[in-house]
Amino acid sequence: MGADVDPTGLSERLRGQLIVPGDPDYDGARRLWNGVFDPRPAAIARCAGRSDVAEAIRFGCERDLTIAIRGGGHNVAGTGSADGGLVIDLSSMRTVEVDPDRRVAVVGGGATIVARSNSAAQGSPGSSRSGSCSTRW
Ligand SMILES: Cc1cc2nc3c(=O)[nH]c(=O)nc-3n(C[C@H](O)[C@H](O)[C@H](O)COP(=O)(O)OP(=O)(O)OC[C@H]3O[C@@H](n4cnc5c(N)ncnc54)[C@H](O)[C@@H]3O)c2cc1C
Repeated sequence: MGADVDPTGLSERLRGQLIVPGDPDYDGARRLWNGVFDPRPAAIARCAGRSDVAEAIRFGCERDLTIAIRGGGHNVAGTGSADGGLVIDLSSMRTVEVDPDRRVAVVGGGATIVARSNSAAQGSPGSSRSGSCSTRW
């Protein structure tokens, strides 16, 4: 996102928060699990729902911006962000809805494994499958 792009144009199109360099939340919002990667995106769209995601993608495509999607931010290679790009941050979209009768779960893109497991446990015991690996290297 270059200096000629005004990110406030996106702010007006979002229900969620648009975070840009200089905002108090900026450094926390851009942090990734793997601190080796320290990208400084031009803007972070903390989306409040699907319509926000659509607006952010539309905005980025209209301006030919590099777009990164951030779910939990745990990708080891730091692919959930982009230097100078637009981050579509799904961390506020954490809702997990389980329909045990239909055996269907609808999971927000920012839901972590804890949210998924808790919801699955409430709706349908034993239905949550996940792997695990030690973080104590
Ligand atoms: C310490 C550690 C322990 C781990 N343990 C396990 C484990 O036990 N079991 C396991 O399965 N995995 C494990 N992983 C791997 C982890 O699940 C993957 O790195 C996963 O990609 C992280 O997802 P995220 O949403 O947090 O990552 P992010 O960095 O947010 O996203 C990962 C990639 O997917 C893209 N992306 C995210 N959401 C979307 C979306 N909605 N649409 C399109 N693209 C999207 C991002 O742009 C990025 O490229 C571990 C990783 C770490 C660092």
